[in-house]
Amino acid sequence: MTRVMKFGGTSVGDAAAMRRTAAILEEHHAREPVVAVVSAMSGMTNLLLECGAAAVAGDSESVETARALILTPHRRALTELVPAGERRRQTSATLGSLVDEATRLLYSVYVLRELSPRAKDRLVSFGERMSSAILASYLNEIGVAAQQVEADRVIVTDGVFGNASPLLEETRERAAEVLTPALADGVLPVVTGFFGATVEGLTATLGRGGSDFSASILGNAVDASEIWIWTDVDGVMTADPRIVPSARTLSAISYSEATELAYFGAKVIHPKTMYPAEERAIPVWIKNTFEPDAPGTRISVEHEAGYSAKAIASISGLAIVTVEGRGLIDVSQVTTRIFSAVGRTEANVYMISQASSQHSVSFVVGGADRASVLAALGAEFREDLDHQRVLSLSEERDVAIVAVVGAGMRGTPGVAGQVFATMGAEEINIVAIAQGSSELNISFVVEETDVSAAVGALHRAFIADV
Ligand code: ADP
Ligand code: ASP
Ligand code: MG
Repeated sequence: MTRVMKFGGTSVGDAAAMRRTAAILEEHHAREPVVAVVSAMSGMTNLLLECGAAAVAGDSESVETARALILTPHRRALTELVPAGERRRQTSATLGSLVDEATRLLYSVYVLRELSPRAKDRLVSFGERMSSAILASYLNEIGVAAQQVEADRVIVTDGVFGNASPLLEETRERAAEVLTPALADGVLPVVTGFFGATVEGLTATLGRGGSDFSASILGNAVDASEIWIWTDVDGVMTADPRIVPSARTLSAISYSEATELAYFGAKVIHPKTMYPAEERAIPVWIKNTFEPDAPGTRISVEHEAGYSAKAIASISGLAIVTVEGRGLIDVSQVTTRIFSAVGRTEANVYMISQASSQHSVSFVVGGADRASVLAALGAEFREDLDHQRVLSLSEERDVAIVAVVGAGMRGTPGVAGQVFATMGAEEINIVAIAQGSSELNISFVVEETDVSAAVGALHRAFIADV
């Protein structure tokens, strides 16, 4: 049975990391067929986005220097990994033509002062194209038959550039054409993460952090026995270790717990990763490239027994937008209009709450989306504002969502009370609470400056002391 193994940005971040990654692949490939999926070198996707933004802004100097900035870390890794000779020359030429295309794209963006969603997707895809070329070359160098595969040939998506969804049946057919014959020949495909292509062949990315999702899409397509996500921590932890240094690794969580944690900010796994895996009951492991013997976390239908609260997650950089009415217009109608207006902006709504007076509706969006959301609502409610049926559109910036996640929490009496009592004891002001309750989480909004204290206190109350 085939195993899909995805390596994140730090796992291919430099020559030393690529050596570890290649050693892991070599070991597993000796035992069973492996499909590797790789991210861009860490920082590269952000660099490509910055180059794009500079080009749109008409910054000619950045456009001039972009080629060298993009190419240098890749060339350095290649030079350290592959000795001078035909193989290095060929891979170097591949890197050269990839960066040439990225640079040409940047020049056209600069000339037009426009970066359309599809151009942006093409631009950011070069990070993965380059890292996969180097890793495949190094694997060949150490005697592992490997072949770089650009995912536009395999993962078929819809046309939502920047946040594309896979067409799983079409992808399965492509995988049978492209990956299965390679695997049958003992070749290890090194597939680019993060993107696929539309039916017309246009590169479309799966959203930031989407290489995890690529791995599970491919796992689904080749009926993998397991999907392994290799990263820089030991597994899914009880909190982000950067916020709670004493966080511990969970040995097992369910697909839905992992999805919930990821949705509420646990960056260790992309929230969409679980569904293609769950569809075919494929377990997903999170493992540490830098501690390969650590047991890791198994994500499957089962979860760790015991206390219901498993982990604390948070998302910073959000804003609350509030529409306040006078009670003169129908609330359910207002709600429908709010969400069709917000829907036109493509902003993600993280949480919705309605004041008990029934006269105001608040919802949480990403900080980057607040301006477009306010503009869309302003247009939708212009007449109501003029006639004072809607009193105001307002926002509160720099807020964060904190979530306590665990299966069956609703079934445990008093958890919500304990969550809010903990916040009270820490004198943390709760800005908003979501309506309705989920089986899997209790989430609420705090000011951004309170996030660390809130997550730390909840971790002490629910996890560390249990
Ligand atoms: P990769 O580049 O391998 O995809 P990411 O940076 O996307 O890695 O994700 C790993 C990071 O996620 C960790 O370094 C950690 O700081 C962060 N993280 C946030 N929440 C959690 C959590 N609950 N468990 C583990 N890691 C977490
Ligand atoms: N390189 C992409 C990103 O930084 C995808 C990934 O790393 O998963 O978003
Ligand atoms: Mg990631």
